[in-house]
Amino acid sequence: MARGYMGKLLFVDLSTGELKDDPLDEALCKDFIGGYGIGARILYSRQKGGVDPLGPDNTFGVLTGPLTGTPATFGARYCVVGKSPLTGSWGDANSGGHFGPHLKFSGYDGVFFTGISEKPVYLLIDNGKAELKDASQLWGKTTYETEDTLETQYGPTAKVISIGPAGEKVALCACIISNRGDAAARSGIGAVMGSKRLKAVVAKGEMKVPVFDLEAANNLRKEHMAEGKKFLEYFGVYGTSGHGDTSAHSGDTPVKNWGGVGVVEMPDVSGLNKEKMVANLDKRKGCWHCPAACKASLKAGIEYPYPAGAHRLEYETIGAFGANCCNTNAESIAMANHLCNAYGFDTISGGGIIAFAMELYEHGIIDKKDTDGIDLTWGNPDALVAMTEKIVKREGLGDILADGVKIAAAKIGKGAEKYAVHIGGQELGMHDPKASFFGERMTMAMYHMDATPGRHTTGFGPSQFMQYVNSAAGLCMHGGMAGNPPKYISGFLKAVTGWDRSMEELLRCGERVAIMRHVFTLREGDNPLKRFVHHRIPGIPPQTEGPLAGVTRDYKAQAYWNLGALDWDRFSTKPGLAKLQLLGLDDIADELWPPSERRPAFGPPPGR
Ligand code: SF4
Repeated sequence: MARGYMGKLLFVDLSTGELKDDPLDEALCKDFIGGYGIGARILYSRQKGGVDPLGPDNTFGVLTGPLTGTPATFGARYCVVGKSPLTGSWGDANSGGHFGPHLKFSGYDGVFFTGISEKPVYLLIDNGKAELKDASQLWGKTTYETEDTLETQYGPTAKVISIGPAGEKVALCACIISNRGDAAARSGIGAVMGSKRLKAVVAKGEMKVPVFDLEAANNLRKEHMAEGKKFLEYFGVYGTSGHGDTSAHSGDTPVKNWGGVGVVEMPDVSGLNKEKMVANLDKRKGCWHCPAACKASLKAGIEYPYPAGAHRLEYETIGAFGANCCNTNAESIAMANHLCNAYGFDTISGGGIIAFAMELYEHGIIDKKDTDGIDLTWGNPDALVAMTEKIVKREGLGDILADGVKIAAAKIGKGAEKYAVHIGGQELGMHDPKASFFGERMTMAMYHMDATPGRHTTGFGPSQFMQYVNSAAGLCMHGGMAGNPPKYISGFLKAVTGWDRSMEELLRCGERVAIMRHVFTLREGDNPLKRFVHHRIPGIPPQTEGPLAGVTRDYKAQAYWNLGALDWDRFSTKPGLAKLQLLGLDDIADELWPPSERRPAFGPPPGR
């Protein structure tokens, strides 16, 4: 087995209570690296298409990469995978904190859960031994309470991921939390965990991750930190929260449910400036061994009652509960963030849902009778906090909103669909693709075409293959801002695993990961070209004032360019036969392009 891996996966059937260890297949590691790459390959092979995402046949996986828990700078990530109940297709989310490395220290590279437990349970892994434990006493508790209880019970080397009441109540935007606010948030995977009555996973252990050349890995880490010194200094102070105000005015952050213009709707954004964001910080903290330590805990709230120890704000949350709701009150955003983290709810979806509800309120589609008296006007921070609390607790109107804007709009009717900003069922991340933040040719494509629609952290098209490698290896994407990422990603992979692979080989791994996520989605009947795309996202019609005035992104053209560059069919989006064969994905090739239906290859000329 290559170094960097613990060499073992755990399969748990929650219906029968059976636990089974399987060796990690080295060929899988070579082809898909780890994390969501291995996750997608295993789910595609072991799970049939069309399963109920909230039923026993959906598999929920928690995975690490070969660089998780090693000297690799930013090597602290784990990811979760499964069929998304929010989009009905491939779902994944990843997070930092301490859990990923500790899952490896407990002896496993990953754990997969199928079935549904009769009663609430949690999984305890202690130095290579796993068992299911009764979680009845934890059911109904917040993620903070769950972490505190289990980490007190199992000691400081035990690290926990858990769902809160939102996941237990199968809110489709529910997420998974560790470390009091590190969220694996997208795709509604918290609802999958809740549907299985799996409250938490505890990983405890002191096993070492084998490293092929420790000296080389440590030297590379030093070099990376020196090269990224400026970034590390800035990021350590502000994290991702340093540009909430400027982004609200530049067109980067969507404003007023994606329909407004920052400089017009919110001329004064000083409430979102970076000094406001660090005003109430208590202690800096970071993911496991990360030199940036971009996270922090807050002191107790002054204007709103979030407790001491609540997680600092991240850019996405500032955008979602800030500019997208025309709200410039930083304390109210911190309160909404705390509620989402404690109850286990995706803050990006949370802010998108509040913005949607504010617009419904503006147009009289809902009123105070629906909101239990909450005056849900744009930018009203008290209303924003009160409605967030209802959503995460599934109370009143919050019960309808907790499943995301698409489903809520269908339930509310009265033309609410017009204001439901989503792609393929999921609320979008907080970078407006019209602002070209990620490059002209993929800004829309990444939201529109990714296997998990509405995401902007994975990207779409060949330019993103290295990002797939980065994530599958267990690295934080912020590492890319601290120097030359391909050099460090490939260097760490070589030093840790011992495999000396060319950049071309690594990019092929990234391409395989992209394909596996995509074919899972295709098998679920989701051709991304047919997805609903809210017209405000590409700018149809374009805005008439502000920095994005006149800008429309031709998302169909972006899909077309990228599909061609990927060698995927431009109508069905099936990856091409030759491409699949080149990458050694022969079983997928046979499924998508059955041999009996292929055009015969050119033979010898007639008569010979
Ligand atoms: S940069 Fe921030 S999010 Fe990324 S690993 Fe470091 S502390 Fe975690």
